[in-house]
Amino acid sequence: MKAKLPLFVFIDACGWEIIKNDPFLQDLAPLRRRLTSVLGYSSACVPSILSGRPPAEHRNWSYFVYDPKNSPFKSLRWLRWLPESLTSRRRFRRLLSRFVKRQMNFRGYFDLYNIPFRHISLFDFTEKKNPLQPRGLNRGHTIFDYLETYGLAYHVSAPERGEEANLATLLQDIQPERIDFAFLYWPGLDGLMHAVGNDSPRVELKLRTYEQWLGRLVAMAKRHYQEVALYVFSDHGMANCDELLDLRARIDALPLRMGLDYAVVYDSTMARFWFFNDAARGQIRNCLYAVPQGRVLPEAELKALGTWFSDSYFGELIFLVNEGVLIVPSNMGERPIRAMHGYHPVEKHSFAALFTNQSELPEAIEAIPDIFRLMTREADDAFRRNQTAGRTSGVSRQAAMTDRTAMPTANV
Ligand SMILES: [Zn+2]
Repeated sequence: MKAKLPLFVFIDACGWEIIKNDPFLQDLAPLRRRLTSVLGYSSACVPSILSGRPPAEHRNWSYFVYDPKNSPFKSLRWLRWLPESLTSRRRFRRLLSRFVKRQMNFRGYFDLYNIPFRHISLFDFTEKKNPLQPRGLNRGHTIFDYLETYGLAYHVSAPERGEEANLATLLQDIQPERIDFAFLYWPGLDGLMHAVGNDSPRVELKLRTYEQWLGRLVAMAKRHYQEVALYVFSDHGMANCDELLDLRARIDALPLRMGLDYAVVYDSTMARFWFFNDAARGQIRNCLYAVPQGRVLPEAELKALGTWFSDSYFGELIFLVNEGVLIVPSNMGERPIRAMHGYHPVEKHSFAALFTNQSELPEAIEAIPDIFRLMTREADDAFRRNQTAGRTSGVSRQAAMTDRTAMPTANV
C-alpha cells in the first residue's frame, strides 16, 4: 500500500449555482467552496487552472485570432465555392475539423466551428498544443510540466476517449499503485447543459452518476493508498440563454468591409474586433454602444480580469454580452443552444465550485487559478511521503529541487 494519492477531478461547468442546493458529494467531499472563474471559455479557464496564471500570462484565451500572416488555413479557402447549405452543416464541419487537425498536427481540441471559409485565411488558431500534456501552453508551465520535472508518476485524462473510459484507465493505474497523482477530466455535464439547460432534470441525474463513479474511484484508491486527498472542481458555471442577439447583422449593415476595414471573431458571448482604419473603429464603437445586451470592456477592467493583451493579439476591442444573451449566429455556432458560459466572472452563473474530503481549505483558494497551488502542494506531499516509503521511481528529490527555480512556487 502506498502512502498518498491526490485525486483532482475536473467536472466541466459544474458551477456553484448548479450544486448550491444539491447534496452533491455530501459524503465523499463535504467541504465545498464557491470559486471565481476567469473571463473566457474552457480554452481560457483550463489553462488558468493548470498554470495558476491568468490568460494575459499564459496567452491561451479565445480560439481564433486575426493573424493572416500566420494563418494555417490558407489551403482551405477553396471551400468558399461550395454551397453554404453544405459547409455550414455541423457534420460536414466536424469531419473537416478532424481532417484539418491531422493535417496541421494540432495536438489539443480542434474545431472549425462556424468560421466562414471566405474569411478563414485571415485567422489563426491559438491552441495548437494540448494543455493536458507537458509544454501544452502558449507560454509558461503547467502542473504537468511540474510533475514531469519532479519525476512524479501521474495519470491525466485524454478527453477524446470519453468519461467512463477515462475513469476505467485511471482505475487501472490505481490498482497496481503505479501513480502518485491523478487528474481526471469529465466534460459531459458541460455538453449536456449546453443542450438541455441548467434546470433540466437530466442535470441532477448526471450529478448522481458522477457521485457513483467517484464512489467507485475513491473506494478503489483507498484500497491502495493510506490517504486519498480528493478535490473535485469546475472551471465555470452555465447560464440559460433566453435572449438571442444577431450582432453580425448590425455590424454587416455598416458601410464597412470585413477583412479590409476591420476583422471580427464572434464568440458565443463576446465579439472581438481588429480595426484597419479610424472610420471602422468609430462606426463599430458607436454601433456597439447602441446595443443594450452588452458592453465594450474598458482596458482597466480587462487588466483587472487578467485578459488584457498589450499587443491586442486577441482583439483591439472586446464586446461582452450580459448573462443569458447568446450571440447567434456566431463563429462558434449557426444555431442557438440552450445554455452558455463565458459571461463576466461576476455574473451569477459564472462561479465555479470546489469540493474536498480534506478538513480544511486554505483561505487563499478563492479563484480557479488557485487550484494550481493546491495541486502542487498535494503533489509535493505525495512525492515526499510515497518516496519515503521507497516506492516512487523517477528523478530523485535532490535532482528535482535543482530545477525548482524554473517552476512556479508550490506553497499555498
Ligand atoms: Zn461549454
